[in-house]
Amino acid sequence: NTSFVACSKQSTCPYCGVGCGVDVDLLETNKFANKSLEATNLSGSREHPANFGRLCVKGTHLLETTSPEGRLLVPSVNGREVEWDEATDLIAQKMQDTIAKHGPNSVAFYVSGQLLTEDYYVANKLMKGFIGSGNIDTNSRLCMSSAVAGYKRAFGADAVPCNYEDLEIADVLVLVGSNAAWTHPVLFQRMEQAKKRKPNMKVIVVDPRKTATASLADIALHIKPGTDTILFNGLLNYLRETEALDQAFVKRHTNNFADSIRCAESYTVDAVSELCDVARESVETFYEAFATSKRSVTFYSMGVNQSVSGVDNANAIINCHLASGQIGKPGCGPFSITGQPNAMGGREVGGLANMLAAHMDIENPQHHDLVSRFWHSSKVTSSLGLKAVDMFDALESGQIKFIWIMATNPVVSMPNRQKVERALAQCEFVVVSDCVAKNDTLAFANVVLPATGWAEKDGTVTNSERRISRQRALFPPTGKARHDWQIISEVGVKMGFEKAFSYSSPAEIFDEHAALSAFENKGSRDFDLAGLVGMTPSQYEQLSPIQWPVRWSNKQDIQTAPERQFSAAQPSGTARLFTDNIFFTHNQKANFVPIIPKLPEQLTCSEFPFVLNTGRSRDHWHTMTRTGNSARLHQHTGHAELNLHPFDAKALGIKEHDLLALHSVNNPDEPVILPAKFTRNQRQGECFAPIHWSKAWSSHVHIASLFSNARDAISGQPELKHAAINITKV
Ligand code: SF4
Repeated sequence: NTSFVACSKQSTCPYCGVGCGVDVDLLETNKFANKSLEATNLSGSREHPANFGRLCVKGTHLLETTSPEGRLLVPSVNGREVEWDEATDLIAQKMQDTIAKHGPNSVAFYVSGQLLTEDYYVANKLMKGFIGSGNIDTNSRLCMSSAVAGYKRAFGADAVPCNYEDLEIADVLVLVGSNAAWTHPVLFQRMEQAKKRKPNMKVIVVDPRKTATASLADIALHIKPGTDTILFNGLLNYLRETEALDQAFVKRHTNNFADSIRCAESYTVDAVSELCDVARESVETFYEAFATSKRSVTFYSMGVNQSVSGVDNANAIINCHLASGQIGKPGCGPFSITGQPNAMGGREVGGLANMLAAHMDIENPQHHDLVSRFWHSSKVTSSLGLKAVDMFDALESGQIKFIWIMATNPVVSMPNRQKVERALAQCEFVVVSDCVAKNDTLAFANVVLPATGWAEKDGTVTNSERRISRQRALFPPTGKARHDWQIISEVGVKMGFEKAFSYSSPAEIFDEHAALSAFENKGSRDFDLAGLVGMTPSQYEQLSPIQWPVRWSNKQDIQTAPERQFSAAQPSGTARLFTDNIFFTHNQKANFVPIIPKLPEQLTCSEFPFVLNTGRSRDHWHTMTRTGNSARLHQHTGHAELNLHPFDAKALGIKEHDLLALHSVNNPDEPVILPAKFTRNQRQGECFAPIHWSKAWSSHVHIASLFSNARDAISGQPELKHAAINITKV
């Protein structure tokens, strides 16, 4: 009476922007006609080009986080369990009433890089295309929006030039503001192995802290926080001084070089050494390595992005690659790495408040017209929406009266917790959809919706190298959970947009997303999936990892270059961008951006004398709603601590493990309380705390409450790496 069926499914790890493939073995047991499904093993997918079989500890223990325990199982309204119909009726009605009374900009969606591209596409279409507001922003604003703006300023498009193979081919690898050993471990493993194979490969690590990543460094520059633009202006100047410029490339393929070099020319090696507070010799050795190399990759992440200078940081880096012609070739380029598994997919569909869809611009009349015709909607917004910090300010001021938060926990992750809590508490109507019940933001929700979790979701994600991979459902939904795209579509239909939101599968949504990217494109826009339009459901099911753009000509390659196929039914993608030195600007040349360095916003003073930096622990993820469920992942770091230099501790009369109260101007009444941990890996006068813990785990450890609204003026990305604090013994 019992039968067993074994099968294996390939999916994608849901944690970081590396986007590793995973293979999961499943066993279906059919006992007396009762079916049950069990995952018996999970391993790194050998065929996936992101990881080739590798996984980090988080990915390895993924199955420990898929239990139904701690899941949201049923929809509820003000704490009362309801049927789906009642919940979605209410949401649709509330949105319509609010829009009728106060206009489309009185409602907002705050979404997440944890959503799949198909979920994201539908959310963006509803808000920007049919409600007619730009008010959809994402927690990816906190992750990589500065990198996006940097690429757009330089290349005319949010186009990441490189791929992971470039990290292995490079002769010089510069890691800036990234503790890749902990945050993107599989990429770090690839770099380690490349360095082992090629001992002459030079690795330069730029970070105020001595992190695990510095173990790979030939040169480690522990710069003063907030001086990245000075360091890279200095490199640009050094390239000029040592005649290491690629004059032909600069002349033929770039704009605005003269202005940029003028801004950089006062940054001599001596000046940089003094301003960045690092040894002259280290600066010079770094500059010389870059200047004499033909193949350098600069790999950057949150330390670059989460700053009031985030966009300038990115452009200061890009300027050096343009000046030396180290772009568009194997082993070369400025390479921003996303934190989240689908931050890139969110960018593709327009999940940021300042983008439309398929990398088109809201304020570009041609793009607006094109998207309006494609969506058959007269309501497509032509105005920018509010970016994350501004969105919560608008909630607090009452300008936004309805917010739907999807798959994210802004009470913990946004800076200025006090404001976020005030804003949500006084907002007229708050909807939160999530898969987990331990989420601090749920306490503010009028309507709570149970969404499917990683192991139940079906769709696509895009990793940091533009590679689109399938995420495949392993199990049916838990409880009454539904997929995000289903929930949003149902609300869209109930708001009267039946035709636009009558989706029946993620395959159908992906096809529409691909068709929009290809609509009247003809190679003029960077994001193009023409070669994937018209896939059958079974081709979508089988889709192998592929890097965009997948142009129509890629499809024709199937006949002409069979060796480049991922599969018989699938065209090839694009490994590298700008190999032809053609950019997406008005004259097809890349833009140098003149950089005038500026200071962080929260500066130290006698009252707040320490700089606080934040980041991830090795084995935890975001606000721990998933990794917190794995006992094994708690073993490495079981609680939050404040890393402090022993000399600072001595001056303050602090012993190791003493409880410390942290204050900034932002939280005068409610201290953050953490035990002290001494480390000489920390510069004196600076300290570090992990981001993950919140009141849901233990009281008074909410780090983001120390940070203000300070953000980059262009990208809106909050400065989450630099707060001025004081430290006292509890
Ligand atoms: Fe998952 Fe990132 Fe680890 Fe890969 S490196 S297994 S994507 S957390």
